[in-house]
Amino acid sequence: MSSIASTAGIVSFEQARRLVEVHAVGVSPAQAESVELLDGLGRVLAEEIVADRDFPPFDRATRDGYAVRAADLAKIPARLEIVGEVKAGDWPEPSSCTVRSGQAVGIMTGAPLPTGADAVVMVEHTASAAQEFHPDPAQNATLGWSPLAGRFVEIQRAVAAGENFVPRGTEARAAQLLLDRGRRLDHAAIAIAASVGKSRVPVFRKPRVAVLSTGDEVVEIDATPRPAQIRNSNSYSLAAQVSAAGAEPVRLAIAPDERRRLRVLIEEGLECDLLLLTGGVSMGKYDLVEQVLGQLKAEFYFTGAQIQPGKPVVFGSCGAGALARVPSTNSPSARERPPSPPKKYFFGLPGNPVSTMVTFELFARPMIEALAGMTPQPLLFLRARLKSEIRTKTGLKRFLPAVLSGEFENAEVELARWQGSGDIAALARANCYVVIPPDRERIEAGEWVPLLMR
Ligand code: AMP
Ligand code: MG
Repeated sequence: MSSIASTAGIVSFEQARRLVEVHAVGVSPAQAESVELLDGLGRVLAEEIVADRDFPPFDRATRDGYAVRAADLAKIPARLEIVGEVKAGDWPEPSSCTVRSGQAVGIMTGAPLPTGADAVVMVEHTASAAQEFHPDPAQNATLGWSPLAGRFVEIQRAVAAGENFVPRGTEARAAQLLLDRGRRLDHAAIAIAASVGKSRVPVFRKPRVAVLSTGDEVVEIDATPRPAQIRNSNSYSLAAQVSAAGAEPVRLAIAPDERRRLRVLIEEGLECDLLLLTGGVSMGKYDLVEQVLGQLKAEFYFTGAQIQPGKPVVFGSCGAGALARVPSTNSPSARERPPSPPKKYFFGLPGNPVSTMVTFELFARPMIEALAGMTPQPLLFLRARLKSEIRTKTGLKRFLPAVLSGEFENAEVELARWQGSGDIAALARANCYVVIPPDRERIEAGEWVPLLMR
């Protein structure tokens, strides 16, 4: 770890992100618990999920039409004798429902392919009362559509063997891995769990993340602020981001810009699985967060990143030694001491509300996901066409609030009007950030630019 520690200082965005990822790989998630399937939405799987049988469990028709032998359709049109019908939920017993040469069986989407058939012809490509066919069987009865009615069907288009059905076990074989441990459950994963009969799912317990706002000017949101005071919006935006990232936020009291009280609250925060501080990490005379963390023997991995907004962001940890309570005179000897508590990570996020939100997404989120048991996910930027030119200064990688608009394939993006990192109103109007590399001064309208969605 010493090579990581030695890089502490102001690093590039990519280095900062890497440092968080390297540390995130080493954290262990909390224990597992079992929850109702739908309560598992957004949670992280603690055990893998495997197929309980073949998927599909039988050769499954994907069209309404006729199960046929492809070889019978060498000459088109072909006239086949209808010898049965299988609807979804029916099981075509080979003794009573087999397709032999010159024969066809009416089949519906989702039904098992009868023995002897090797393809399905869509009903639209047959002559027998195609107009009258209706997906609702009651309607078919009214319309007089029944594959058995005419005894014969005219096939107007050939099919190749294998067409219009999914062979048994081709989506997954019984016992095959379907969902990895560490996978976050979204609606598609919930569908898989449901399809293998999991009414309850094993998930990791949510990590607890302390949120500590600092600043003499910051007051609780139900207080009436005096002229120079501002309400504590950061604790709330962060708590919301923490929840969305899959953890449980623990909002602490506001810390004043005063060492003793700040230290008490930091120590309280370090009892959680992760501590997020906001404010007090810039160069001001009363920016005391790093000093107090230093008193707690914190190790810093970076103390700034070449980004805007959010340059003063800090990442570090307090080791077991730093967290141990000050020993009393009759404390047990080192050999008798209980095992040391695990290392606790913290982020010092800058206090400007937009900086707080951006740096959370860029750096705190992957650590929270790791603590929640999630397999690390790379940070991916999407791209959209820039609506109007951007001029900026070089030197920092910028994440500027922007509005992605347009419709269908015509997405375009432009910067939101904003007054800088304190402008939450601008951020609320925005729906993404345009990412500008540190070497660009001017980006022309029409250029494809990377975006970070939010
Ligand atoms: P700092 O990082 O402490 O220098 O604060 C930067 C700016 O963010 C200042 O204008 C603060 O008033 C503001 N700020 C700090 N903490 C909060 C907070 N919890 N909620 C809203 N704004 C804050
Ligand atoms: Mg401050």
